[in-house]
Amino acid sequence: MLRNLFVYLAVMMLCASSVLAAPKRQIVETDVVVVGSGLAGLSAAAVASENGLKVYLIEKMPTLGGAAPFVEGTFAVESYMQRQSSDRITTDQAWNMAMEFSHWKANGAVLRALINRSAENVDWMKERGVVFEKVHTVIYNGPKTWHLFHEGSGATAVKTLVDIIHKTGNKTMTETAGKKLITDGKGNVVGIIAENTDSGDEIEFHTKGGVILCTGGFANNLKMMKKYIANAEQLVAGPKAGREGDGINMAMAAGAGTESMSSLLVLGGIPIGQDPNQTLTDTTPLGQITSVLRQPLLWVSKAGNRFFNEQHSSDWTVSQNAIERVGKRYFVVMDQNTVNELKTKGTLMPYSDWVPAGTHLNLIDEGIKEGEKKGYAFKADTIDALAKKIGVPAENLKKTVADINRFTDYNYDEVFGKDRRFLRKVEKGPFYAVEGEPSFMSTIGGVRINANMQAVTDDDTPINGLYAAGIDAGGMFGDTYDLIMPGSLSSYAATGGRIASEHIAVKLGKIKK
Ligand SMILES: Cc1cc2nc3c(=O)[nH]c(=O)nc-3n(C[C@H](O)[C@H](O)[C@H](O)COP(=O)(O)OP(=O)(O)OC[C@H]3O[C@@H](n4cnc5c(N)ncnc54)[C@H](O)[C@@H]3O)c2cc1C
Repeated sequence: MLRNLFVYLAVMMLCASSVLAAPKRQIVETDVVVVGSGLAGLSAAAVASENGLKVYLIEKMPTLGGAAPFVEGTFAVESYMQRQSSDRITTDQAWNMAMEFSHWKANGAVLRALINRSAENVDWMKERGVVFEKVHTVIYNGPKTWHLFHEGSGATAVKTLVDIIHKTGNKTMTETAGKKLITDGKGNVVGIIAENTDSGDEIEFHTKGGVILCTGGFANNLKMMKKYIANAEQLVAGPKAGREGDGINMAMAAGAGTESMSSLLVLGGIPIGQDPNQTLTDTTPLGQITSVLRQPLLWVSKAGNRFFNEQHSSDWTVSQNAIERVGKRYFVVMDQNTVNELKTKGTLMPYSDWVPAGTHLNLIDEGIKEGEKKGYAFKADTIDALAKKIGVPAENLKKTVADINRFTDYNYDEVFGKDRRFLRKVEKGPFYAVEGEPSFMSTIGGVRINANMQAVTDDDTPINGLYAAGIDAGGMFGDTYDLIMPGSLSSYAATGGRIASEHIAVKLGKIKK
């Protein structure tokens, strides 16, 4: 009898829990829903809040910020800081450079809108308390357009922007994923259905002004990567989840076109098989060994030949193209003298701002030992023995080394004309090689947009009520990211989010055009 009672109670509890677990749906009326809380989404929601709009910012992960904590700095031209720098460039020059770099594959009108307001974007953040430390560049002889955040992380901007949203009484909701856009049957977007990722409960947001998609592209969606990107399986830096193409897929389902879906923001060579996120520092052996892979020393392919003018080693956009051309593997070869130089005099080129130029690689010996165990660093007493260890034809490697030694004696690189300041002999053993493979940070293609950040169809008809910003938006780049003016992606993300919200505020009569 007692046993039956327990069974009965257990069944009742199960029934009760399944009743409780049934997803609920509530309807919420609002002006704007911003989907995704990276720099694009946070900026969009902050500007919407400042302009008196009722806005919900939904984020599917448990924390806000997306890739922002990884972002070291943001692009601007003609900002207060950039005007003071020796490498001042104008908005016109920047726009022309970006368009020429993309071979006019980028959307000129979108880029013009974003670059025109880049200085104002930095000022806007600065006025609200975001601290910028200096204006800098990444590449050899590049203009200084990269405004580095305090402590080299956009995390500082996240807090400022979240505070603006909350102070105005607007809401941020984590673990809430945008699932499906609501349309009115005439092609207008009038809301979005979101789901609590924990309970499965749904919210049906009805929007007067619009939905702004800022879900960060599709770097974490291997299926989409394989569909759109030629070299899909590369090491991915940044968040390992969250950027799954939701915004782009929702927009496409609502009729939006797409642009430059096969383009990537690449990161360049990383020690083979390692997590790029573990390399983003100068305080570990792995970070320091990664910076060796960015030095303008002797780079050879698996065939043992030079394949690149190494003076561009810190420009990961061009170096990655060259690495991919030679089978996605390369070796940086150096001798004991160069190892000593890197230790005592410091690096010649930066690995972004994670390992600045001039960093003394005091952990390089440890890094090489660690790399030998893990299979990405090699040490040998002769070039023949090194060639055997790294699996390249010894005759080729010996010829390449003889060539570079001769060029260093002449002070002239006959093959690629590398700046003579970077010529180093490989003559005093032991000899070393570090092996690298390509990596990437994010996708950079997505929803086709116009200069108001409105999603448009393939024939450029705006979809009323739908916007895309940040790396959900396409048309900001051509085949590759443009590292001539570093920091452009976060700048375009934040500025794009702001422009979208302003467009909605004008539409709803909150501000004048
Ligand atoms: C290691 C690294 C370093 C970088 N450094 C720089 C730099 O120095 N300068 C620079 O300009 N750029 C840099 N970038 C690029 C940077 O990612 C972009 O510049 C920019 O910050 C992207 O912002 P975003 O808002 O478009 O996307 P993200 O920051 O990726 O944010 C998208 C957010 O949307 C959320 N989301 C996804 N789907 C949904 C959904 N269905 N519902 C709700 N939320 C969803 C995601 O979880 C995520 O939080 C770097 C990237 C990496 C990985």
